[in-house]
Amino acid sequence: MIKLERNFTPDFFTRMNLQSLTQEFKDNGTAVWHHPEVKSACLKLSDGKCSFCEVKLDEASTYNEVEHFKDKNNFPDDVIRWENLLPSCRHCNGSKQRHNVVLNPIINPCNDLPSEHLYMIGYRIKGKTGLGTTTVDVLNFNHREHKFIPRCKAGEIIDSSIDDAIEKLSWFIERPSTRRKNILMNLVEAILDECQKKSPFSAVSATMLHRSTEYAHLKVSMQTYDLWTDYMQELHDESLKLTLPSTR
Ligand SMILES: [Zn+2]
Repeated sequence: MIKLERNFTPDFFTRMNLQSLTQEFKDNGTAVWHHPEVKSACLKLSDGKCSFCEVKLDEASTYNEVEHFKDKNNFPDDVIRWENLLPSCRHCNGSKQRHNVVLNPIINPCNDLPSEHLYMIGYRIKGKTGLGTTTVDVLNFNHREHKFIPRCKAGEIIDSSIDDAIEKLSWFIERPSTRRKNILMNLVEAILDECQKKSPFSAVSATMLHRSTEYAHLKVSMQTYDLWTDYMQELHDESLKLTLPSTR
């Protein structure tokens, strides 16, 4: 989970009569949030990912659902309030169901900094604080199939790509050429790209990257050979902001 910035209000929420949509939900239970503009605004908010587990939405195994942070049954007045809507995968949405976040708060990725409340050990995410612990519990955040295994896969991609980059660096040092240099640099940029806010499982990827001693070694070696660019450093610094601590 990463911090999201809700720094825009889609036209839909100012243009339409939100009061009448809220009333329509109250009177008829109409799913007034099932509107393409609401869905696309939610996807924009999270770069197309579940706002909790960061799985890419609209892929075969996941459903893009509009999640009401304050559930619509207990808080019908917030049913179509922009600040209350988050994109969510079916598993996170289904796990949370009617959980009342006012009585028993969980992390709101638009308001709270997840790294202050969660830590990651192995590929298991746990609570550092009461808010974090409740979040992990309510979202079933270590579910083997839906949460734990996808995290392992994301981390494995980072680890194996770092190994690959180390090999490519040796290959370059052995006989430097522009072609070898470009292949290495493109690979390193691609690894760093996987650890940016817009990428699926970015908190996990960034955390594994920054915990990797191999990556630290690669970075120092690249600096020695003058292959580490300002752009790479920028991506490195951005990814560091997404990492989760290893202990409470
Ligand atoms: Zn999810």
